[in-house]
Amino acid sequence: MKPPPFSYHRPATVTEAVTMLDELGPDAKILAGGQSLVPMLNMRLATPAHLIDINRLDELAYVRVEPEGVRVGALARHADVEHDAAAGRAIPLLAEALRSVAHPTIRNRGTTVGSIVHADPSGEMTAVLCLLDGEVTLVSRRGERTVPAQDFFVAPLTSAAEADELATSALFRRPTGAATGTAWMEVARRHGDYALCGVGAVVTLNEAGALTTVRTAYISMGPIPQTLDLTLEAIGSNGDWRAVGEAAAAQLEPEEDIHATARYRRQLAVVLTARACRLAAERAERARRAAPSHPTGGAGRTGSGVEGER
Ligand SMILES: Cc1cc2nc3c(=O)[nH]c(=O)nc-3n(C[C@H](O)[C@H](O)[C@H](O)COP(=O)(O)OP(=O)(O)OC[C@H]3O[C@@H](n4cnc5c(N)ncnc54)[C@H](O)[C@@H]3O)c2cc1C
Repeated sequence: MKPPPFSYHRPATVTEAVTMLDELGPDAKILAGGQSLVPMLNMRLATPAHLIDINRLDELAYVRVEPEGVRVGALARHADVEHDAAAGRAIPLLAEALRSVAHPTIRNRGTTVGSIVHADPSGEMTAVLCLLDGEVTLVSRRGERTVPAQDFFVAPLTSAAEADELATSALFRRPTGAATGTAWMEVARRHGDYALCGVGAVVTLNEAGALTTVRTAYISMGPIPQTLDLTLEAIGSNGDWRAVGEAAAAQLEPEEDIHATARYRRQLAVVLTARACRLAAERAERARRAAPSHPTGGAGRTGSGVEGER
């Protein structure tokens, strides 16, 4: 299959790209890694009159650890984020989830911000952004705005980005708390395929080791990524993570498609929620014990991740 005809534009700066988006109108589309857009063009599922290739915008090719978390520029490839050591130390969940995104060749080209704007309900980084209370920065000729993850995903393949807006970065917030653990788990028919169900978990403990927060986020379990606060269920369950998984699945409304029945997806949600929460809790406990304030803690360890496991 070949794409329909389009005119090709290659801006050299963000300002130029935004001007082109404005002047060419809603029939223009940004081309980032092309790993979703090009197949859609070839299958004639998208027929833009203009493609604006942002691959020359080096100013957007960064992965930066900031006080609040990890900021990913629009031209950072999935692989750049996956292999960034500082980002991995700040938020280990990024690399863990990215390892389930397609295959290395696709991660070498596809961008993390592109996958977020693409808003595929099976895209891992959409749920990770929601779970970490992230946000997306959008720029147009009208100015700049920041949209929280909870408001960014509108419908399958539809985000809050307007036709004249370029997403310049996504901020993934570092989980806070005395000790935090995270985990990503999913089931796909083959490794690298889109998941039938994927779950991210963040568990936070206080200094005494008691649960303070349990949150999860899901892909392939609805039209947009689903986020759940399971703190009360987890505290009430007394360590029975299977019961927490059942409580989570009861709140989800997965759909049936050619890959799986809704019932099977719900069952996956039970099992994966239980496993992801258990693992995140174990990691949080390990981080708590390693914290400098703990009697057995080592100096310089923080409670934010899973150092030593990566
Ligand atoms: C075989 C295969 C398997 C895959 N498996 C997975 C998977 O398991 N999980 C997963 O998450 N993804 C998967 N992907 C998709 C991959 O992650 C893509 O890289 C990603 O979805 C889109 O990123 P991109 O940079 O390639 O964007 P593009 O394909 O270039 O663009 C995608 C869409 O986003 C828009 N866009 C991109 N960047 C911007 C921007 N900065 N501002 C405004 N709009 C923008 C484009 O206009 C387009 O509409 C797979 C892809 C393939 C080909």
